[in-house]
Amino acid sequence: MSAYDDQNIFAKILRGEIPSFKLYEDDDTYVFMDIMPRADGHCLVIPKTPCRNLLDASPEQLSAVIRTVQVMSHAVMKAFDAQGVTIQQFNEDAGGQEVYHLHFHVLPRHAGVSLRPPGKMADMDVLAAHAEKIRAALA
Ligand code: 5GP
Repeated sequence: MSAYDDQNIFAKILRGEIPSFKLYEDDDTYVFMDIMPRADGHCLVIPKTPCRNLLDASPEQLSAVIRTVQVMSHAVMKAFDAQGVTIQQFNEDAGGQEVYHLHFHVLPRHAGVSLRPPGKMADMDVLAAHAEKIRAALA
């Protein structure tokens, strides 16, 4: 497995070098909207400290991230009046990973509604409005 590369896009988001729709942060984790959402409210939970994925993460990084995944699961379900939530997490190229900073996808789900195909950029005004709904649900 390759070493962590601090030029990955999520490391740049953490350093504030590129913008993101921030939803939540605590000492150890940061949450923002996925820019190509597969469901309304699709967000990403990442540790603030470097690790490539589940395979090199420390128990401390994993426990902090999964606690925030639970917080965000409640928030996105409330914000979008969802009946369920899907959590996705990919490791290495063969596992479907594209960005090499550990992240968990949090996707609110409605009965009978499939996830949208990956790779379609969101309308930024819509993404901003969805982020606001989630922040309100967290308050
Ligand atoms: P994965 O590595 O889990 O396969 O996918 C990476 C995820 O990051 C994708 O869902 C993609 O839409 C999202 N993503 C890629 N680049 C950016 C970006 O610049 N900003 C944000 N907010 N999300 C991104």
